[in-house]
Amino acid sequence: MVLRFFRITLHRAGPSSLRDNHPMNLAAKTLGEVDCGLSWRNSFHALGPAFYSSVIPEPLPAPYWVGRSEPMARELGLEPAVLASPEWLDALSGNRMIRGTQPLAGVYSGHQFGHWAGQLGDGRAHLLGETSNGLEVQLKGSGLTPYSRMGDGRAVLRSSIREFLCSEAMHALGIPSTRALCVTGSDAPVQRETTETAAVLTRIAPSFIRFGHFEHFSHRGQHLELKTLADYVIDRFYPQCRESGKFPGHAYAALLDAVSERTAALLAQWQAAGFCHGVMNTDNMSILGLTIDYGPFQFLDAFDPGHICNHSDTLGRYAYAQQPNVAYWNLFCLAQALLPLIGDQEMALAALDSYKTLFAAELGRRMRAKLGLDEREGATAQADEARTGEILALLAKHRIDYSIFWRRLSRGAASANWQGVRDLFLDRPAIDAWLLRYSERLTLVPRPLAADLMLSTNPKFVLRNHLAQAAIEQAKLKDFSGVQTLLTLLQSPFAEHPGFDDYADFPPDWASKIEISCSS
Ligand code: AMP
Ligand code: MG
Repeated sequence: MVLRFFRITLHRAGPSSLRDNHPMNLAAKTLGEVDCGLSWRNSFHALGPAFYSSVIPEPLPAPYWVGRSEPMARELGLEPAVLASPEWLDALSGNRMIRGTQPLAGVYSGHQFGHWAGQLGDGRAHLLGETSNGLEVQLKGSGLTPYSRMGDGRAVLRSSIREFLCSEAMHALGIPSTRALCVTGSDAPVQRETTETAAVLTRIAPSFIRFGHFEHFSHRGQHLELKTLADYVIDRFYPQCRESGKFPGHAYAALLDAVSERTAALLAQWQAAGFCHGVMNTDNMSILGLTIDYGPFQFLDAFDPGHICNHSDTLGRYAYAQQPNVAYWNLFCLAQALLPLIGDQEMALAALDSYKTLFAAELGRRMRAKLGLDEREGATAQADEARTGEILALLAKHRIDYSIFWRRLSRGAASANWQGVRDLFLDRPAIDAWLLRYSERLTLVPRPLAADLMLSTNPKFVLRNHLAQAAIEQAKLKDFSGVQTLLTLLQSPFAEHPGFDDYADFPPDWASKIEISCSS
């Protein structure tokens, strides 16, 4: 992580002189506005200048398409063919303003790697606006903002492709996430460890508000803004908090409770899917319980609970098995930030408790589904938990490929033939003993039901590092077909996709040598 060592320059939020003096203004004036056919309302913008700086994107020289997500376009109300137009290419590269949008960079703070980092904010992202169906459109890598600190405001092609593919992959897996509409690229050089090229990712979410937004105003004693923000989030996303049965008359405690529940549900899904986020700082935690800010993330290859996917995370703070605890730590920071509104420490702690209860229950439910099991007479959740614990211990001991194991188990359940699973283990007696106990339990569930559940829970295709890397290397040579192929597979990860078995195979030896850091 390079940027966390940067000296933090405090910028007061508010309309910035960047807006008028920025070279982008010239480009915007030259190319003019485009009317992209969507109607906009910008509720975050309406919160007022304490929450952001109005600043427009910097132009991206000679942009070209890298990838577009057609399902995302349709959800926005955009025909894919319309999105493919030169107007949209320009608009989503930051070269033209879209009529009706009010671009801004939001301000937030946060805890990074366990330490208070002070003010951060959208250092390279511009929220363009919110479409009338309530989805916000944000450019990432679109140039300097008042919160860029020592950064250059840009994102490189490599990290933009990774985020693009993984956002859409997570969505298709049913894991809450910010979405991605497209990536545009440019030959403009960007300096990282080596010279790379620039790209702009268009992200979509109902909101990009993070725990860090609340921490920002709380830390500064700006309790009026804190309340405005909390009310905004409740009114838009958690209206049930106003009539909470658990915390009657305490909407802010109810909000903490609701966010704790969503975060618990998210973490259960990450753990079950073998997903490592890599940088679970509080500024990377969504108030809506979405996966947000894809950096050095990874889907596990071999199952190793201590796996650290972020090459910069030398102490393993964000190792796979640490994630559930870190999420609780982050929620604790959110609780502290909300305390001036909640007013009662015991109540805040009670709201946080939801995390622990729900995480355990959700993880149990998800793992049971991976095993094709459901609630049945003659089987207890406790016994199923023990079964899960036993198989995870075996996977860890023998470093078995996580996704391949679950997919082969699903096929085994469908065909009553466990050979594919057995082949993964050198220690045959150990896996045979487990399979015997497991298949006995499985007889309580009608076979087609179990097989269907498993084949729609355990994906055939996940975005492994080496797959992304191969598509990135191809894209660097301006061949974007690899990105497209991966996108297609990952958008229906439970389907068989005959002819593409290579993408579901074991990682090659070089995969373990890929080092993904925070550099992006
Ligand atoms: P991240 O680790 O990507 O979540 O970023 C942490 C903070 O650094 C956020 O405030 C980002 O906006 C900011 N940041 C990251 N990379 C850059 C960059 N290249 N230019 C400006 N700001 C950046
Ligand atoms: Mg971030």
